[in-house]
Amino acid sequence: MHRNQIHQYLSFYRDLGVKDIYRRKAPADQKATPAERTASLIDAPLVSDASSLPPLAPAGDTLARIQSDLGDCRRCRLCEGRAKIVFGSGNEHARLVFVGEGPGADEDAQGFPFVGRAGQLLTQMIENTASKEGIPIRRPDVYICNVVKCRPPENRTPLPDEMEICGEFLFRQLLAIRPAAICALGSTAAKALLATKDGVTRLRGRWHKWRDIPLLVTYHPSYLLRPYNQDAKREAWEDLKKVLHFVYD
Ligand code: URA
Repeated sequence: MHRNQIHQYLSFYRDLGVKDIYRRKAPADQKATPAERTASLIDAPLVSDASSLPPLAPAGDTLARIQSDLGDCRRCRLCEGRAKIVFGSGNEHARLVFVGEGPGADEDAQGFPFVGRAGQLLTQMIENTASKEGIPIRRPDVYICNVVKCRPPENRTPLPDEMEICGEFLFRQLLAIRPAAICALGSTAAKALLATKDGVTRLRGRWHKWRDIPLLVTYHPSYLLRPYNQDAKREAWEDLKKVLHFVYD
């Protein structure tokens, strides 16, 4: 099993309150030389029986349970400067989930994602595109959340360990909702969900997958608020049309 996977499982069980784990002794061949032991490891399958691994999220997981497990989270340094945890908002049975980066000042004050200027633009993008395309949905019909649930100081980009710790809860949210598609807003969301270093310009406009869920990457609304990004705005409308038709046609 890959290091990251082991880390994910361990943090998942730690969050569920499991404090002790036991390591079974490997059936070592005492007579084998270190070189022989390494060779036998290379030949062995990486995951001996993936189907026997415990699931990352408990069966029947719900947003309420995830929020309760998150609690008054102090798992990383972001808790120090936050006013409110921004868990997510919208329809628990949404067919479409938008994932942003992390709360800004307005979100931190109100406890809801995308309620500031970027949020107003996101709402307009969803509702105007849907209405123009004849798709009868409004913002409360989708679900919106972020990679990290506490505001990073000075709105800086979340650090890798913050994304990893909070990512556990994001993944559980996505697994509990099981939307028909995910729309990643900006490169932080794309990085967290696709484990890629590629930027939005390379990733946008085509389908990817998070687990088995189709995922489209588009520009973050904050980026679109900058006056010189007219081309990006047009591309973002195209992306939105694509994801809305995919999910609701
Ligand atoms: N930017 C984000 O990425 N998320 C929010 O909730 C608000 C602004």
